Amino acid sequence: MSEIKTVLVTGGMGYIGSHTVIALIEQGYQPIIVDDLANSSPEVLNRLKIITGKDIPFFKGNVCDKAFLEKIFSSHKIDAVIHFAGFKAVGESVEKPLEYYRNNLDSTLTLLEVMTEKGVKNIIFSSSATVYGTPVHVPLTEEDPIGTATNPYGTTKIMQEKIFTDYAFVHKDFNIALLRYFNPIGAHPSGLIGEAPYGTPNNLMPYITQVAVGKLPRLTVFGNDYPTPDGTCIRDYIHVCDLADGHVLALKKLAQNPGLVIYNLGTGKGTSVMELIHAYEKATGVKIPYVIAARRPGDVAENYAGTLKAEKELGFKAKRTIFDSCADSNRWQQKNPKGYN
Ligand code: NAD
Ligand code: UDP
Repeated sequence: MSEIKTVLVTGGMGYIGSHTVIALIEQGYQPIIVDDLANSSPEVLNRLKIITGKDIPFFKGNVCDKAFLEKIFSSHKIDAVIHFAGFKAVGESVEKPLEYYRNNLDSTLTLLEVMTEKGVKNIIFSSSATVYGTPVHVPLTEEDPIGTATNPYGTTKIMQEKIFTDYAFVHKDFNIALLRYFNPIGAHPSGLIGEAPYGTPNNLMPYITQVAVGKLPRLTVFGNDYPTPDGTCIRDYIHVCDLADGHVLALKKLAQNPGLVIYNLGTGKGTSVMELIHAYEKATGVKIPYVIAARRPGDVAENYAGTLKAEKELGFKAKRTIFDSCADSNRWQQKNPKGYN
């Protein structure tokens, strides 16, 4: 057993990172945030202070900048790292492959180099269900093979998992948790922090919330001719606060020196696009106008997590319902129609 107290959170100003920072503080950990604000706002820090009552150390900079990272590791006793920093927009990754490969791979390589130099041996990595590629069956379990990604973003996740796996093979004293997230939605129940995409959202929930506040006229449902009960695609939507709790449980696992471990973080329950629209309307009383359009290229019909391994080995079980997620996403968007601006 090793004690983990101080946790460096790369990308801690972003959507999942900021919610995880709260969960860490609530469970007695000391987070230190590193973020270059490439896809987040400095206002997040003020909101985190209101929610937690704490001044959270924040260093603005790029995780690919080795000298910058070395300084932070030299001036703080860091016990573990949670590595959220990275670019994450699927469509943009097709347009800007080099930027995605550079940022996502370099940040991981630099972080691992500095951790090795400084003797910090615990890390959690934000992976994604996208590493499974097109599912051959559902639920997807950790034993299922890594697939082929259909875009550079997904390929960076597969490549980063491979980097961690190869590293763990020779560094047996390192503890690495690869967490494969399914579809994070929802927001902190305070409505003070949430998902704030720049421009028109690509993902379903932020699109729905922007329709709900009248920023967008209607939702386009991409395809209702899939082989699912209502013809629309099925995903595993997990509340971001449940996801955040999963990271704290993974830290506890790392403290037991497990080496490299891999877990899905999902609810185990599939929800279709139409079911999500109806749940949103029921949870919030807001009507979501929609039109049915053609399928979006690259979408798979059905995708949800096998959750037994995380439940058995981490004690992780998603607690919040799809209605909680809808109500919380809606509260965040209603209170912050322009995000953090
Ligand atoms: P986000 O964009 O809200 O947060 C990422 C944060 O990292 C941002 O604040 C950004 O400014 C920062 N960042 C990016 N590159 C950086 C760099 N080189 N140095 C320092 N900071 C940098 O994204 P998120 O939704 O919170 O996702 C967090 C992680 O989880 C990402 O790695 C993402 O790929 C992964 N993930 C997200 C989802 C999802 O649907 N949101 C699903 C699966 C996996
Ligand atoms: N979707 C949709 N309209 C939108 C955005 C998404 O119908 O404006 C559908 C999409 O086709 C998919 C589901 O919602 O079936 C979830 O999409 P998202 O991009 O949020 O997640 P991912 O496809 O990456 O799992």
